[in-house]
Amino acid sequence: MSIRTRFAPSPTGVLHIGSIRTALFCWLYARHTDGKFILRIEDTDRERSTKENVQAILDGLAWLGLEPDEGPVFQTQRLDRYSEIVDQWLDAGTAYRCYCSREELDALRAAQMRDGKPVRYDGRCRDRKKPVQGAKSVVRFKNPTSGEVVVHDQVRGRVVFDNAQLDDLVIARSDGTPTYNFAVVVDDSDQRITHVIRGDDHLNNTPRQLNMFAALGVEAPVFAHLPMILAPDGSKLSKRHGAVDIREYRKQGYLPEALLNYLVRLGWSHGDQEIFSVEEMIRLFDVEAVNQSASTFNPEKLLWLNQQHIIAAPAEDIGRQLIPYLLDAELDLADGPDPVAVATGFRERAQTLVSMAASARYCYEDFEEVDANAAKKHLRPVILEPLQEVRKRLAELVDWSKTAIVAAVEQVAASYELKLGKLGQPIRVAVTGTSVSPPIDVTLELIGRDRVIRRLDNAIRLIEARRGAGG
Ligand code: GLU
Ligand code: ZN
Repeated sequence: MSIRTRFAPSPTGVLHIGSIRTALFCWLYARHTDGKFILRIEDTDRERSTKENVQAILDGLAWLGLEPDEGPVFQTQRLDRYSEIVDQWLDAGTAYRCYCSREELDALRAAQMRDGKPVRYDGRCRDRKKPVQGAKSVVRFKNPTSGEVVVHDQVRGRVVFDNAQLDDLVIARSDGTPTYNFAVVVDDSDQRITHVIRGDDHLNNTPRQLNMFAALGVEAPVFAHLPMILAPDGSKLSKRHGAVDIREYRKQGYLPEALLNYLVRLGWSHGDQEIFSVEEMIRLFDVEAVNQSASTFNPEKLLWLNQQHIIAAPAEDIGRQLIPYLLDAELDLADGPDPVAVATGFRERAQTLVSMAASARYCYEDFEEVDANAAKKHLRPVILEPLQEVRKRLAELVDWSKTAIVAAVEQVAASYELKLGKLGQPIRVAVTGTSVSPPIDVTLELIGRDRVIRRLDNAIRLIEARRGAGG
C-alpha cells in the first residue's frame, strides 16, 4: 500500500509555525516512504475563509518547498459529494434531521449546566418520525450510544474514548453545508488517505471521525497527533511571541531550509543531531519516532540554525536568495558587487539575509560619515602616512583582486613595521565607516577600487583636519 498523507489547512487564517510543522511532517513522511502528499483546503466556513489566505497558504508552501503531489483540493468544490453521503445516511438511518431551535438548544444547555451535567445534545430528535413543518433542520450523525472508541495513535499510543461521552454531532448545517468533522471523513476516505498527521488539538475529534469511518464502511487511516508547540514562557504560542505568520520569517530573512530544520526538531529527533539538510530529514524522518511531549519554541535557536544554513549553503544559492533583500534595502544592484560575491564575503557573519543585506550596504552606496568611535580609535595621525601609502599602491594596482590587494597592504605594513591588523583596521574603518567587516582583502575587493580610493581620501582628509586641530 502506498502512503498518502494530507495537509488540510482552513483558509480562515494565515499559515503559522504550528501548521507548517504539521505540513512538514506530512510532507516528510510522504517523501520518506515514496508516497503522496495531498493538499486540501478546508474552506467550508465561507464567512471566514478568504482568497488571500488561500494564496498565502500556497505561497508559503511553495516558498518552503513543501509542494503537494495532488491538490489543492477545495472542499467547497465537493459540496455535492458531501450531500450525497448525507442523503445516503439519512436513508440508511445513520443520520437524522434535527429540528431543534436555537432557543430549545440553549434551554437544554442551561438545564444541563444547572444540574452539573456535561453539556451535550440529548438526541431528542433521534427517533422523530415526522418533520416539523416550517422549521429549519440540521442533520446529525447517529453516534453509537455505548461502547468504546479506541484511537491507536502513532504518537500518543492507545487512547480510549467512551461513546457515552460523545453526542450526535451536526454533519450538515441548515444551509446544507457540511461541518468539519464530517467533511474530513468523507475527504480522507475519498482521497484514500492512509495517514492523518495533525496537531493534537484534533485528538478529541478523532473518536467521532472513527465512528463515521465505520459508518462509511471504510477502514480508517492511521492517526498521528503531534504535540503542541509552546511559547518560551510555557503558554500557547501566539502573535505576541513574535512572528507567527510564516511570511514574516521570509520577510525577516530566514532561509526555508533553516525554518524546516528548526521545525523538524519540534517533536522529532535523531540522536542529538541539530543540523539537517532537507535530504537528510527525508531520509531519517519517521512519524513513529515523533515524541509525545510538547516542545518549546525558541527564536534564538532558529536564528542560530539560520546562520548555520547560511554558512553551509552554496554561495550561489545564498547570493540568489539575497537579491530581493538587497532590493528591499533599496540598493542599486547595478552599482556594486555581484550578490554571490557579497554572500561569499558576508556569510560567516550574517544571521539572516536581512542583516546580510544591511551589512553590505557600503558595497553599493557611500555612507554619510565614519562611525565616531571607530574614527577616534583608528583614524589617528600615526596612521596618516601608511594610509597615504596604501592609497597610492591601491590606485596603482593592475589587478583589483584579493591577492593583489593583500600583497599591497602587507608591503605597506612591513615598510612601516606595523602588524597587519594595525593597518587593516584603519583601512576598514575608512572604507566601511565601521569597525566590522569581512577580511580586509575581501572587503576592499567587494567595495571596488573607485569607492575605496575615494573613501581613503576622505579618511586622510579627516586625519589631516584632526592633526591640524591638534587632535
Ligand atoms: N482544517 C483543520 C485545521 O485547520 C485540519 C483538519 C485535519 O487535519 O483533520 O485545523
Ligand atoms: Zn433536535
